[in-house]
Amino acid sequence: MGATACDVPRVCTICTHEKRAEIDRALLAGEPLRNIAQRYGTSATALHRHKEHLPRLIVKAHEAQEVAQADNLLEQVRSLQTRALSILDRADATGDLRTALSAIREARGNLELLGKLAGELQQEGTINITVSPEWAALRAVILQALNPYPDAAQAVTRALSAPERAS
Ligand SMILES: [Zn+2]
Repeated sequence: MGATACDVPRVCTICTHEKRAEIDRALLAGEPLRNIAQRYGTSATALHRHKEHLPRLIVKAHEAQEVAQADNLLEQVRSLQTRALSILDRADATGDLRTALSAIREARGNLELLGKLAGELQQEGTINITVSPEWAALRAVILQALNPYPDAAQAVTRALSAPERAS
């Protein structure tokens, strides 16, 4: 295969991995990098680097009309977020600050991923994407995931509805 799935200077061994979809799912499910690395014969370092490519890959999947897959990935980020928040609630109630802090970190990571995704979508600057029904659904999913965070949701909404420039 010629082209790599992402335009980073060095070739990402995960982007070009034949089991990439499975690896992405494992990453989004929050599995420890070491476990994933072992299962797919790669390294935690490579996986860590590849996590940066996830937002772009989700967008690419969307562009390639693989909407189901893109929605699926978003869905997982969202359920991950729900889980992090419920852990946070429980830890908060029992005064378990250590767990609360790590849940907050998790939740923040998910938000960053969603934020980057929004940024990628914005950068693509594709007019089609903003008018397609698939995009509307995707956008709804993002905003729904950001529901507990009014500030973040507002920022994303602003970014997503930036005035379209007539070329
Ligand atoms: Zn990659």
